[in-house]
Amino acid sequence: MIRPHTTVLFDIDGTLLSSSGAGLRALERAMVDIHGIAHAMDGVSLAGRTDRSIVRDLIAAHRLSAGIEAENTILAGYLGHLPEQLSTAATLLPGIVRLLEHLAEQKDIAVGLLTGNIRRGAAVKLGHFGIHHHFSFGGFGDRHVDRDDVAREAVESLRDRHGADYPTDRVLVIGDTPLDIRCARAVGARVLAVATGIHAVHELAPHAPDHLMADLSNYDSVLELLRP
Ligand SMILES: [Mg+2]
Repeated sequence: MIRPHTTVLFDIDGTLLSSSGAGLRALERAMVDIHGIAHAMDGVSLAGRTDRSIVRDLIAAHRLSAGIEAENTILAGYLGHLPEQLSTAATLLPGIVRLLEHLAEQKDIAVGLLTGNIRRGAAVKLGHFGIHHHFSFGGFGDRHVDRDDVAREAVESLRDRHGADYPTDRVLVIGDTPLDIRCARAVGARVLAVATGIHAVHELAPHAPDHLMADLSNYDSVLELLRP
């Protein structure tokens, strides 16, 4: 395998797709099934966070007995409801398919994920839109509570494939929240912030991403950032 000159790590929700609350509703249904609690997600924030941390907060907010098993039970319920919830409202964001296809043609660019989704949830969401095959590695929200640790996992996964000395200044993180910007910094990567999630351009700008775009519809301008 050729060592890629540049690596792109994509966030999922608000960056590749808009799930329109599908994940939230899937978690709510799981909470009804398992604990008989309705509207369990009221007041729990999702954007930029890991599934592990969201479920842990959910358990604490409802004073349920804590522990990895209790968390995994809710995550399994969530996965069960996710496909149906995605089919009702989720959409791909502008330009994503074309951008991924253009990236796939670049032999010196590797494409992975840096997401708070658990690995199987990521596969369900991306598979729903037929784009899962574009991503061969990444960091996920199965174990980590802190997104910075997800970024470290993504870099480990990259280095397993392309060498332990692969430089992180050749990695571009693309994400839609201040937490994406922060976690890119935590591993020494560059970051392109995109205002297709809940944060507008003027809200992302103060977090000083290297690059900032309203959306990813102009794939040329994204590819331009990746040229050696
Ligand atoms: Mg996001």
